[in-house]
Amino acid sequence: MKYLDEFRDPEVAARLFEEIRRVTTRPWAIMEVCGGQTHSIIRNGIDQLLPPEIELIHGPGCPVCVTPLEIIDKALAIAARPEVTFCSFGDMLRVPGSDHDLFRVKSMGGDVRIVYSPLDAVRLAQQRPDREVVFFGIGFETTAPANAMAIVQAERLGLNNFSMLVSHVLVPPAISAIMESPRNRVQAFLAAGHVCSVMGTWQYGPLVERYGVPIVVTGFEPLDILEGIRRAVTQLEAGRAELENAYPRAVRPEGNQPAQAVLEQVFEVTDRTWRGIGMIPQSGWRLRERYRRFDAEARFDVGHINTAESPLCRSGEVLQGLLKPNQCPAFGKQCTPRTPLGATMVSSEGACAAYYQYGRFIPAGDVEVAQ
Ligand code: SF4
Repeated sequence: MKYLDEFRDPEVAARLFEEIRRVTTRPWAIMEVCGGQTHSIIRNGIDQLLPPEIELIHGPGCPVCVTPLEIIDKALAIAARPEVTFCSFGDMLRVPGSDHDLFRVKSMGGDVRIVYSPLDAVRLAQQRPDREVVFFGIGFETTAPANAMAIVQAERLGLNNFSMLVSHVLVPPAISAIMESPRNRVQAFLAAGHVCSVMGTWQYGPLVERYGVPIVVTGFEPLDILEGIRRAVTQLEAGRAELENAYPRAVRPEGNQPAQAVLEQVFEVTDRTWRGIGMIPQSGWRLRERYRRFDAEARFDVGHINTAESPLCRSGEVLQGLLKPNQCPAFGKQCTPRTPLGATMVSSEGACAAYYQYGRFIPAGDVEVAQ
């Protein structure tokens, strides 16, 4: 298939592995920012085929995983209201709140629906003026333009029964937080190609300069990831720190400017709490004053909610690259995809789910290699 098979070619992959082995002379820790990249790495066994000196650290770029517990609990409270039709992408329905999830609300009679686009929710609000239709607007810079368009469309249609529970997060402030953490081990980043296809690469140059860290914009197919790693290791070995674009078929330096314009129109930057990590200053978006009447948090007065994470869950350490999923004592025992204790075991981009799905039950250091 065009654009897929050509980026999964085993002969090219073997050459890239060989080149990475050739340039690697000492240990390096490289973070892939996006959960989609993590799944590709684990599914294809890329981490197991790299030279042992190279450690891939799985980053916080899974939007479902970092949506704060307080927002999940607010979603549950709003979705349970009799006048509300609550619309969400499917993978949010199983994310555990303090004591249940959206599937439970649905099973108890709540009108919770899976949609494939925020515009489906806008259409529903048009069709059902007797219902309060709420869309759960989460994610990184990738999902935000469609959510912003939904708000613009709702205003254009004069809808008074549509609102959005917004919890958008931004990649560059997360990279800053990781680099400024006293526990940081990351020496280079594979930036998320789809985020950069929207936002461009211009936000990343200042991070390279401030932290002296190589950043390689990287795609999601096996060859994309190997090329990203090859470029990152080459820079590290040469003592260079530069911004490189290894995903030029999708990413231009300026990004998607019409998308950026609608984001600027609808959202403004705000402090945001990341699940498992904590508050990162200026790391999210909220609706601008002009659009605040579409803000579900304000409309349904769910300001104060007490939250409680599972005491067993260590997803905060997983999201910061401090712990591999299979090093969590609950992994595969109390916590499985059928009984998730944390969002990283639920999401299709979550690192814990990737390790479970592809059978990584034994921490790498505990594997005995036959001589
Ligand atoms: S395996 Fe489960 S309990 Fe452990 S960190 Fe992952 S989601 Fe949390």
